[in-house]
Amino acid sequence: MCIFCKIANKEIPSYIIYEDDKFLAFLDLSQVTIGHTLVVPKKHFANLLELDEETAKEALNVTRKVALLLKEKLNVFDFNIVNNCGEKAGQSVHHFHIHIIPIYKKGDLEFNAQSNKLSEAEFKKLHNKIIK
Ligand code: AMP
Ligand code: ZN
Repeated sequence: MCIFCKIANKEIPSYIIYEDDKFLAFLDLSQVTIGHTLVVPKKHFANLLELDEETAKEALNVTRKVALLLKEKLNVFDFNIVNNCGEKAGQSVHHFHIHIIPIYKKGDLEFNAQSNKLSEAEFKKLHNKIIK
């Protein structure tokens, strides 16, 4: 059984800050910023793409509720909401989860990737590849 299934089953302890019949939110053991929280469905799905539609919708709703809780209790007004989907994207626990990372000041969480400068032709080609 995966580590988040064990947390959902209360087989291993966690700092749960929100719970309903289908979801849990608990403090990430590695706090990128203070209040860094994970929103996790109790049922096991490997990643975002594996979710059913209902769970996908509910996950965003729960994320919003938990962010509002953190806003109220920690007096924080900005957040990065992150999902790492797949190994190369940095997913280390293969049970779907959303990171809620409170942002207290600019630079609390850096995304260092450089952006690609595409020409008009390249944009058109890319757009067509996706929509056709
Ligand atoms: P990701 O890299 O997106 O798969 O995120 C997995 C996250 O789970 C990491 O930020 C870990 O710090 C966190 N994590 C792993 N084990 C636990 C645990 N037992 N309790 C709380 N957070 C955990
Ligand atoms: Zn699991």
